[in-house]
Amino acid sequence: MPTNMTAERRQIMAAVAAKAREQRGTWVRLDAYPTVRGARTTAGRITKGSAVEFPGLGDWEAYTAACEDGESVWLRYVAGDQPVPHLPERMTVRVRHDGDGPGYEGVGVLTVTIAARCPRCGGPRGVDTVRPFRFVHDGDHLVVHRWTNPCGHEDLYPAVVAEARQEMRENPADLLLAAYSAQEVGPHANHAANLLARHGHLDAAAVVRGEVKNNDGDLSTLQAVQFLRDLVGGGC
Ligand SMILES: [Zn+2]
Repeated sequence: MPTNMTAERRQIMAAVAAKAREQRGTWVRLDAYPTVRGARTTAGRITKGSAVEFPGLGDWEAYTAACEDGESVWLRYVAGDQPVPHLPERMTVRVRHDGDGPGYEGVGVLTVTIAARCPRCGGPRGVDTVRPFRFVHDGDHLVVHRWTNPCGHEDLYPAVVAEARQEMRENPADLLLAAYSAQEVGPHANHAANLLARHGHLDAAAVVRGEVKNNDGDLSTLQAVQFLRDLVGGGC
């Protein structure tokens, strides 16, 4: 890769650099790598100003994100004094979701927090285009959000809900709460610990079991959720 770059690849990088310079502050996709490590190496060199086509410490910003064909590298040209728009990591939006079980806010609407990156190309989602969209569902007036991604890929609500749930599964407290809402786990924290262990959250399962003991066996699944959140910090 960087050490034995082909002429063709250098040309592509030079073209991307030119494009990025023309639209300072706008994120441009460089390319996608089969490994996260390869993408991060390139992004790191760009950020440090040590990539030949992207010279100048502080003149470039770069990040990597998962995409359909691996891990993509995105960059923007930021040289100069004019501020550039902040790039948030996450965005919280209301999306339409026509029901499954209790535990969610409202009827037909879910509030979810997702990565502020397009899952298809890794580009920034249209965070600054989020706007309310009103509709009527079973006589209820509901408000969801719509947004437009600069990359042109459209986010459909079912995919956004699935994405948010997938992320929740990576967080033990959120996993527990979702399972509880879907009635997939019993009310006692021992059930919660078993579920966590089944999903590979062995540390979380162990601390919940410890907390059950500390409470002389008196701990509910919902208290376990709160306990895990307090452990992580923030307590919210
Ligand atoms: Zn996209």
